[in-house]
Amino acid sequence: MNSRRDEIYFVTSTPEPEFEVESWSAKGDLNMLRQAYAEFHSQVRAVITACPEVHKWALVERDPLPRWGEGRIVLLGDACHPMTPYMAQGAATAIEDAAVLSRCLDGVDGDGVEEAFHRYELSRKDRTSRIQLTSRLNTWLRQKTDADWVYGYDAWQEPLANVGAATTV
Ligand SMILES: Cc1cc2nc3c(=O)[nH]c(=O)nc-3n(C[C@H](O)[C@H](O)[C@H](O)COP(=O)(O)OP(=O)(O)OC[C@H]3O[C@@H](n4cnc5c(N)ncnc54)[C@H](O)[C@@H]3O)c2cc1C
Repeated sequence: MNSRRDEIYFVTSTPEPEFEVESWSAKGDLNMLRQAYAEFHSQVRAVITACPEVHKWALVERDPLPRWGEGRIVLLGDACHPMTPYMAQGAATAIEDAAVLSRCLDGVDGDGVEEAFHRYELSRKDRTSRIQLTSRLNTWLRQKTDADWVYGYDAWQEPLANVGAATTV
């Protein structure tokens, strides 16, 4: 809802296996949306009926990238580990990236930036890859799940990778 409380933003999902367009601005078909939710509660239908237009985007499964950066450029967040939404970890992992990246850069001068970026990538990639691959299963918390490895992670305390020895310190 916006600050004036006169607009509601909602997100929902509808199967559309043929939709393969990669876009953040593709328009959806309101009639198709209303039809898909025709049997839902009247409050849901009221929101969808009032909706003036709808955008749509595809949920896409991405494999972990082989690398996140080159030289003095490095990525974080969705740019390097886009994931399906079933674990609600996209923003969480982007924030973790930022915390770990800041730790890797702490006290580093210009000449050390490249190594710091490499250290950041090494420190983060196993975790984000595991989340990417687990999320796509779409079973998270639906069955008995050991969730500690996701929610127990402390980006400020986790050991950082040792670039030279490719181990953690
Ligand atoms: C409906 C929905 C629900 C979600 N729920 C959750 C949740 O519960 N928990 C969770 O952890 N995550 C959730 N996510 C995922 C989360 O929103 C993303 O993973 C997160 O926003 C990624 O952050 P980011 O900074 O990497 O990328 P973004 O948030 O996409 O930021 C990238 C920014 O770069 C800008 N940009 C792009 N191109 C250019 C350019 N050429 N020049 C300048 N700027 C540019 C974009 O406009 C954007 O502002 C949800 C996502 C959606 C869509």
